[in-house]
Amino acid sequence: MASAALARDLASILPRESIVLEETAAYLRDETEGRGFHGRADAVVLPGSTDEVERVLAWCYEHEVPLVPRGGGTGFAGGAVPIDGGVVVGLARMARIRAFDPLLWRIFVEAGVTTATLRRLARENGLYFPPDPGAAEQSQLGGNIATNAGGPHTFKYGTTGSWVTGLEAVIPPGETVSVGGPIRKDVAGYDLKSLLVGSEGTLGIVTAAWLRLIPAPETVLPVAAFYGTTENGCAAIERVLGNGLVVAALEYLDRTTLEAAGPSFPSELPPQAAFLVIAEADGSRSEAERLRGDVVDVLADGALAVHAPQEPSTIADLWRWREGVSIAVTAQRGGKVSEDIVVPLDRLGEAIEETLAIGERHELRACSWGHAGDGNLHSTFLVAPDDEDELARAELAAGDLFALATRLGGSISGEHGVGWMKRGQLARQWTPRARDLHAEIKRAFDPKGLLNPGKKIASPTEVEA
Ligand SMILES: Cc1cc2nc3c(=O)[nH]c(=O)nc-3n(C[C@H](O)[C@H](O)[C@H](O)COP(=O)(O)OP(=O)(O)OC[C@H]3O[C@@H](n4cnc5c(N)ncnc54)[C@H](O)[C@@H]3O)c2cc1C
Repeated sequence: MASAALARDLASILPRESIVLEETAAYLRDETEGRGFHGRADAVVLPGSTDEVERVLAWCYEHEVPLVPRGGGTGFAGGAVPIDGGVVVGLARMARIRAFDPLLWRIFVEAGVTTATLRRLARENGLYFPPDPGAAEQSQLGGNIATNAGGPHTFKYGTTGSWVTGLEAVIPPGETVSVGGPIRKDVAGYDLKSLLVGSEGTLGIVTAAWLRLIPAPETVLPVAAFYGTTENGCAAIERVLGNGLVVAALEYLDRTTLEAAGPSFPSELPPQAAFLVIAEADGSRSEAERLRGDVVDVLADGALAVHAPQEPSTIADLWRWREGVSIAVTAQRGGKVSEDIVVPLDRLGEAIEETLAIGERHELRACSWGHAGDGNLHSTFLVAPDDEDELARAELAAGDLFALATRLGGSISGEHGVGWMKRGQLARQWTPRARDLHAEIKRAFDPKGLLNPGKKIASPTEVEA
């Protein structure tokens, strides 16, 4: 259907304020823009209610027009980018808090509430929503749920899905389903809620979610330790676990990442630093202080220096700096191809070194950082977004990373998802039967294949189809 006819039809089912007529470019890209990736849409809508989402989906289904759900557009897998026309359905206007029961540690939010808004609201009421993906001011709960987003505190507290007790979603051919709710346990039926979590907009459009909260820890005390080698840094990470220290976060940065982000580190950096570990103790003041003491002891062994801030402002400085790492790395050459592979924790050092070797093989500057405790690396190749040859080599290098992850017994994605960028790559780690089931689940939810087409595809044969 031509764009003009499509816009006219949408205008007959949606109020004027729900249709974006100008300045649509921002809805055609996400964080993969630095890889030279952007899309094309015939229309962009911002529904204000679940009922409007239902109407759009039903109309698209009837007219065989693809739809692409969109949150804050901070994804790294190209999931929110419309590939070849259709309707982008942004959830930003659905940002109401439908219910909040602080004394029962639960909240019911619409999909467009930003991650930062939710975390702030919880804090103001003495509560804590632990998932903390790095672009929290822009990313939305719907996007976090659709990618099952993680972050540094996933190590102790789990990914977004661990905090979802109920979901409202609009699924083809245009019906709202609710699974779970303000309940803490529910084993009736297959776990449809968990199928929708991490489905990257390919099974349904999440419109609202019931989330579990916990009382905010009284104290958080991070410890940063610098090492001269990757080997020493990884040995320290393993010692944290081996000593039974239940830290909230356990992060690392390699040498090249430190070169990019180090100049703004909120304390002195030892000149020989080639590896950084950040661990955080949390809990009541006495618990956190005791744990912090143990963490300092364990990390100090073999370290060049240990930085252990205690004031709220210096603690906030450290985490703010950590949040800026991805941006500091991008700033090196204007773009990056950054993946989120996972390996068993005892293979972390190998994966860090191999990332550098893959970069060398493809004549690219490489680095990695990430959620060490989860064995989750952001293995990255620095690129100039307008250098096509470099981009092509970086995509080949990304393929080598997926091969590495699967060879080491890991996964091609720990938190960013498959989206468009990793379509077909699941074949590296799943058997044909498992991939068939994946495709059958997609067909059961979306028989016409109109929801976010081309994304989260398991098999190369489906990519070609
Ligand atoms: C600086 C930076 C740091 C980051 N750090 C982390 C990190 O530590 N951990 C982490 O996991 N991620 C991280 N990310 C990636 C990103 O922020 C997360 O993937 C986030 O969850 C995406 O949310 P979003 O609202 O921006 O989703 P989008 O990018 O808009 O969409 C992502 C996917 O979800 C789908 N989707 C969005 N909303 C809905 C909905 N309501 N219903 C159904 N499908 C929907 C889209 O179709 C798409 O497939 C980081 C990104 C940046 C830029």
